[in-house]
Amino acid sequence: MTKMENLKVLIPEEKLMARIKEVAEEINATYKEDEELTLICVLKGALMFYTELAKHLKMQVRMEFVSLSSYGDSEKSSGKVNALNLHLPNLEGKKVMVVEDIVDTGLTLDFLMNFLRTKCNAKEVRLCALLDKKCARKFPVHPDFCAFDIDDKFIVGFGLDYKELYRNISFIGYLE
Ligand code: 5GP
Repeated sequence: MTKMENLKVLIPEEKLMARIKEVAEEINATYKEDEELTLICVLKGALMFYTELAKHLKMQVRMEFVSLSSYGDSEKSSGKVNALNLHLPNLEGKKVMVVEDIVDTGLTLDFLMNFLRTKCNAKEVRLCALLDKKCARKFPVHPDFCAFDIDDKFIVGFGLDYKELYRNISFIGYLE
């Protein structure tokens, strides 16, 4: 049996799009339209969420991208963060929002949020997550905005992968 046959739908596309629009409206209510916000996409997993979210934002958005990885090729976190690309413009005194696909143990975000606060001296660092697996948390990471709380399942689709596949799927699924 291939992995594709084990793919189940958790959040269908229509529900996903509607909820992302709602989260964007929550974010719009938090920032003024003339305010500048640096939106940081954590590649590759957050890409689809990031672009969909950004389309609905009304403040002055700067788009930046970083690459981090804690999973490698498996379904379990390796326990360490590899910073593959952390090239960012000067963020001193800036308002920043990290956009992440999923918060699991919190290791990756704990690293990135601390980096932005202490090494980049950003004025304010917030977190917007598509999915929050609260039950798996080991580090003190709390999204300011979150689309869905989920149980401890291995998620794929809408940017999330298993061995680099499934990222292009338009819904949130899980592998059984
Ligand atoms: P953490 O550092 O919070 O343990 O893990 C965060 C990263 O691990 C996410 O950005 C994502 O890349 C990966 N990850 C965590 N849970 C899942 C999951 O259920 N499915 C997939 N595809 N990746 C996950």
